[in-house]
Amino acid sequence: MDQVVLRNVRKDFTTKLLGTVTAVENFNLNVAEGECFSFLGPSGCGKTTTLRMIAGFEDLSDGEIELCGKPVSIKAKNLYVPPEKRDLGMVFQAFAVWPHMNIFDNVAFPLNVRKVPRAEMKERVEKALKHCSLDGMEKEYPGNLSGGQQQRIALARAIVTNPKVMLLDEPLSNLDPKLRESMRFEIKKLQKEFGFTIIFVTHDQSEAMAISERMLVMDMGRQVQIGTPTELYNKPNSRFVHKFLGQSTFTNCVIENGKAYAKGNLQQLLPVDPPKGCDHEMILATRPNQIDINKESGYESVVENRIFLTDYTEYQVKVGDTLVQVQTPHRVEFSVGEKCFLRFPNAMWYPMEDEAAEAERNRRQLV
Ligand code: ADP
Ligand code: MG
Repeated sequence: MDQVVLRNVRKDFTTKLLGTVTAVENFNLNVAEGECFSFLGPSGCGKTTTLRMIAGFEDLSDGEIELCGKPVSIKAKNLYVPPEKRDLGMVFQAFAVWPHMNIFDNVAFPLNVRKVPRAEMKERVEKALKHCSLDGMEKEYPGNLSGGQQQRIALARAIVTNPKVMLLDEPLSNLDPKLRESMRFEIKKLQKEFGFTIIFVTHDQSEAMAISERMLVMDMGRQVQIGTPTELYNKPNSRFVHKFLGQSTFTNCVIENGKAYAKGNLQQLLPVDPPKGCDHEMILATRPNQIDINKESGYESVVENRIFLTDYTEYQVKVGDTLVQVQTPHRVEFSVGEKCFLRFPNAMWYPMEDEAAEAERNRRQLV
């Protein structure tokens, strides 16, 4: 059964400064029971707003939301179920723990609100603390703990009510990189033990790829692509998704009579076929580690720069007037100025960048 369903959801905000901004539009989603699903996208793309609508902290401008088979928000019927009746757990980016309460009371808080009897409360809090590796720390105050431990308190407080759905809004962003990686596994472990469904919001691509079964890339309030991490990485449907997931190198190209040339060099054909009936100018997108640099065949050029990095060597090679990055294992050797040939397996073609879109993206990040 789908546990989180959104249909045609829209949210407008109106402020004096910007007028009306459509923060989320035409948003449709089905998340299955037990799934870990991520929303990924740059700051201002509407991730938090969507999560807050699911949680019930924000009403909808249009559309409907169902949780566990029951409608919780329907704009047209003015139906709205408050957050505490939605059977959700939530953890946010800021360590939202109460400094004046000890760990036990912090975690017991949602059970207190629900008037759970004392003995049962104790048992459930202890279980939640144990699962979050905080057992024995009931009497400590959050101020004495590290960021990672504070975020564990927030996690324990979110799981203590045994929610069916867990909403996590950049919960690891304030932690240092090592801890962030280990907490990903802890969250997945908790999910296995408690069996909840996760919606995980992040602007960090590797985090989304590591944690989720499926994910959604968002841009300017819109859904750009939904799929598994590998589908999105291997078949990005736009330049935006290509750039957002993994490293990209883009070559500006000119298409003439069904043949592709690098912009700035119409003398030499590119060894890639452009899509049929495409625009006159297109972008060839590749991953720097998937370009084949060799001494035999392909697009002929010379190595402009060579950078020795810890895990690979990066060559910069002019393709027309674009400087293309090529990453190879250290053993492939070319020196600066040496002739080389490039091939572009797994390349993707996209239309040229829309500059108006970039300006709008920046505007959304300002607020
Ligand atoms: P994200 O979480 O992806 O960074 P948000 O959902 O916070 O993005 O914001 C999406 C858009 O909605 C942004 O343009 C933001 O400025 C706007 N927005 C969010 N909350 C409000 C609000 N309370 N009032 C006005 N505009 C808002
Ligand atoms: Mg946000």
